[in-house]
Amino acid sequence: MHTLIFATNNQNKVNEIQSLVGADFKIIPLKEAGIDIDIPEPYDTLQDNAAEKANTIYKLANQNCFSEDTGLEIEALNGAPGVKSARFAGEDRDFQANIDKVLFNLNRIDNRAAQFRTVICLIWNNSNNELQTYYFEGICKGTIATKMHGEKGFGYDPIFIPDGATKSFAQMSMEEKNKFSHRQKAVTQLFDFLRSK
Ligand code: IMP
Repeated sequence: MHTLIFATNNQNKVNEIQSLVGADFKIIPLKEAGIDIDIPEPYDTLQDNAAEKANTIYKLANQNCFSEDTGLEIEALNGAPGVKSARFAGEDRDFQANIDKVLFNLNRIDNRAAQFRTVICLIWNNSNNELQTYYFEGICKGTIATKMHGEKGFGYDPIFIPDGATKSFAQMSMEEKNKFSHRQKAVTQLFDFLRSK
């Protein structure tokens, strides 16, 4: 079994990803790796933030690791909240305040098209002891509901209805969400790549 550190403190993301990966990989979240830091996300792109997180953790743990950064990109808001999704309504990353701000900004706007986009950054020490950086991207297109639906999931899940579904991510089991999700698409590429190594 291969072990890989996942540079996150978000247990929801760990659960989603571990459920996708199967038994041949063990995903180790930061806490389990004994790393207790809040990694900054200072950049303007998901890719740069994901790289910052993965590089920070590689330096601390000296082990292969990956990170991911996800943003909700809303067409009528010119791609906002995007890379600022966690702090859309303020520095305390209050998910309810973030949802309220999205619904307020889209009030009376007909175009509710949006997408979740995930970028994964993998730092991989290859068989020649060279450090390599790889990126994987997953997109899930959908629409923003006019109010919250469901209690499962996390973040913006209660207001996001993926294309091809009639309910929000927060009304789905993790397995159902994984059939549609941005994270699943990026993670599938990551693990296809790792299995080919
Ligand atoms: P980050 O990737 O942890 O920085 O997440 C950015 C923001 O998007 C946070 O507010 C998360 O709660 C939210 N977010 C990330 N992934 C998802 C998801 O799969 N569903 C709903 N919200 C998400």
